[in-house]
Amino acid sequence: MGKFQMRELNLNKQMLNELMKSLSQTFEGVKTAKKILKRNEKIDTTQAAPVTDEFWADLRSYAKTVGINVIRFTAMDENFIFEEEMIGYHVKDGVLDNAIVLGMEMKKDAINQAPEPTAGNESMRVYAELGNATNKLATYIQEHGFQAQAFHPFGGPILYPPMAEKAGMGEVGINGLLITREFGPRLRLSIVTINAAPLPHLESVSFGIRAFCRTCGLCVKKCPTQAILPYDQKVKSINGKYIRNIESEKCFPQFFKTHGCSICIKVCPFSQVGYEKVIAKIGPKMK
Ligand code: SF4
Ligand code: SF4
Repeated sequence: MGKFQMRELNLNKQMLNELMKSLSQTFEGVKTAKKILKRNEKIDTTQAAPVTDEFWADLRSYAKTVGINVIRFTAMDENFIFEEEMIGYHVKDGVLDNAIVLGMEMKKDAINQAPEPTAGNESMRVYAELGNATNKLATYIQEHGFQAQAFHPFGGPILYPPMAEKAGMGEVGINGLLITREFGPRLRLSIVTINAAPLPHLESVSFGIRAFCRTCGLCVKKCPTQAILPYDQKVKSINGKYIRNIESEKCFPQFFKTHGCSICIKVCPFSQVGYEKVIAKIGPKMK
């Protein structure tokens, strides 16, 4: 990963303060996630109450109170786990069997300023706030007698977008981001893994997003570093088990230089026009 190049950023004092606050909260959040992981050693899972529909309903209500906008559930998939150390976590620590995928919105007005610092600050704000919310949710789960691991949105050993797609939250666009009905690609993702089962049953839905990507290609044209490949040109992810259109090593320098870039989020019609209008325009045949 690259480094923040603060001297190159054109930030006024207030924006710099906002950015520093988000960064500090993010680093604290990663540290807290490590403590949550350690606490699992003291949880006797045989004492946990049976998992009921009421437990999941209470969990969803609690998630709303800490600012989570979207929540879905699915079993972990080893194809979406990295094999090397990522931020604050090593895969040898193990990953619990079930995943709760969490999403938090980035505000449209701010993202529309991309690649100006206003968009980057919004991106960093949501990393920090979603990180805190993820830790709170994992702690809530542990307090109910289950083991839980908080994976911070800023990074970790899990590929969040395909896990979110597997959970039925949306579909991964060729910009490598999860695209949802509610916010298009304007959201950050995190995961809490948990040993509680069975997970609540949610109907699977069809979105038709990648079918639209095939004819759109706006993010491919607008990415300043050509990090997004056209629909038919795919590369393997870092663990070699997942195929996608993003070349992360081309994205990172621009991402860190602008502390959040976000051009590919801004230009996506699913962010600008909204899911319902895009799908209504192209018709049900794309679904
Ligand atoms: S964040 Fe910027 S550099 Fe990275 S893929 Fe999107 S548009 Fe390209
Ligand atoms: S900008 Fe177009 S091609 Fe890129 S992710 Fe959005 S819909 Fe897909």
